[in-house]
Amino acid sequence: MKRIYIHVPFCIAKCAYCDFYSIEGNSMQKEYISALLKELEDRKSEILWPLKSLYFGGGTPSFLDFENLGLIFNYINDNFGFEDLAEITLEANPENIDAEKCSRWKELGINRLSIGIQSFNDEDLEYLQRIHSSEKAIAALKIAKNHFSNLSADLIHGISGANDERFIKNVEILTTLGIPHISMYSLSIEDRSKLRKLIINNERSNIDEETQARQFILAAETAAKNGYFQYEISNFSKPGIESQHNTAYWKGEPYAGFGPSAHSFNGTERRWNIADLKEYISAVESGAKYFETETIGQQEKYNEFILTRLRLVEGFTKQEFEQEFGEENFRKILLKTQNSPYFSVSENRIAFTREGLLISDALMSDLMEV
Ligand code: SF4
Repeated sequence: MKRIYIHVPFCIAKCAYCDFYSIEGNSMQKEYISALLKELEDRKSEILWPLKSLYFGGGTPSFLDFENLGLIFNYINDNFGFEDLAEITLEANPENIDAEKCSRWKELGINRLSIGIQSFNDEDLEYLQRIHSSEKAIAALKIAKNHFSNLSADLIHGISGANDERFIKNVEILTTLGIPHISMYSLSIEDRSKLRKLIINNERSNIDEETQARQFILAAETAAKNGYFQYEISNFSKPGIESQHNTAYWKGEPYAGFGPSAHSFNGTERRWNIADLKEYISAVESGAKYFETETIGQQEKYNEFILTRLRLVEGFTKQEFEQEFGEENFRKILLKTQNSPYFSVSENRIAFTREGLLISDALMSDLMEV
């Protein structure tokens, strides 16, 4: 595997909507790094080098002390090394960004920052229980822009109380600041999130799916007017700035994930690490099992192909499909898609149309069974 994901499980405070595995505070960094380096060493034979991409996700990787991040880089540089154009991404939050950190991250080799902005409106940020302000978000982006040309910002649309103008303004601020990559996600109410409890207790108002869909269309139009192209359901980019690491996920390429809750995929088997930092550390250090695995059957492989490949605006080619699932299945999928206004179908390629992308979830489930 030539792509590595590292899960950093620390956050300053838990956001209301969050469903990712993380804990508040970073006092267990030392123990985490020791277990992570051991996991890297134990699974060294799975990695093929030079690496194509390295992605630090979380949690909040920018909340990791610089010295600890350096220890991970030392290990990876000593053992693997990178291709010339390898993409090395660090997810960062505005409250951790300053000029000194940006210079030091860059010195380590990080060449892409993905920044969790979510909104430039303080009421939205309060709804989401983010800890930064709009002012801090703008200041952080300006600093990051001075150090990195490959920059991405996340926005969340469909926040209750946010009208269309408010969300479009979020996109406009990013385009004005010259941030070349934007990820726009719909707010979803995850079962384990604080937001779900707050809504049930009437402490937050609920989301409205129609508003979400409308805001997404308006935002996508605003991005397009400003020279961004949509290359994936939720991702918009200036040419050449598409996320290489995430695109590899959507194309079904293998990757190895390290750290608590990290997932891996080797082409035939999925593996996921235990989503509990203390249990992860204790199991890795004692040599006990800290992960589960599952072999992917043909039907599941097919479903995943539909779910991931159609997320990409380019869809998939006949050759790519037939190589995995044969000519007969391609004929079946062709019959289901060729006269639909939601699919763009040529002899060689199947993809969603613009209308199809908007109702992709329902369309994908219709295609799930061959
Ligand atoms: S959304 Fe990001 S910053 Fe907020 S708690 Fe989740 S992982 Fe941490």
